[in-house]
Amino acid sequence: MDNVIISKLIEAAIEAKSNSYSPYSKFAVGAAILCKDGNIYRGCNIENGAYPTSMCAERVALFKAVSEGERDFIGIAIVSSSGEITPPCGACRQALSEFVREDFDVILAKSKDDYKTFLFAELLPLSFKLEK
Ligand SMILES: [Zn+2]
Repeated sequence: MDNVIISKLIEAAIEAKSNSYSPYSKFAVGAAILCKDGNIYRGCNIENGAYPTSMCAERVALFKAVSEGERDFIGIAIVSSSGEITPPCGACRQALSEFVREDFDVILAKSKDDYKTFLFAELLPLSFKLEK
């Protein structure tokens, strides 16, 4: 993924973060997933007073894309209000593994110019997948 696209994806994640509903944790997260056709779907974390029903930004972005018929993904950018890089939780890694290849890019950004890129295979080795 080239730097222009990475920048665009991080920007989309930062925009998504501004919609975070996180009154309990005060930890705002934004994510943006890039599809092979060029579409970008954004997501933010959405908390609930009944905590287990809360949802992560990464899965919101992924599920929005999947629900629109997207099945082929290039990468995802993730930002948070912590000022540090924010890796996806285990549940999000598992959800992503259903749809992405091992070379899917995961961009963990502090800002548009300060980020680290990982291959999905680095974040979830030996992932569980039903045979397709
Ligand atoms: Zn998560």
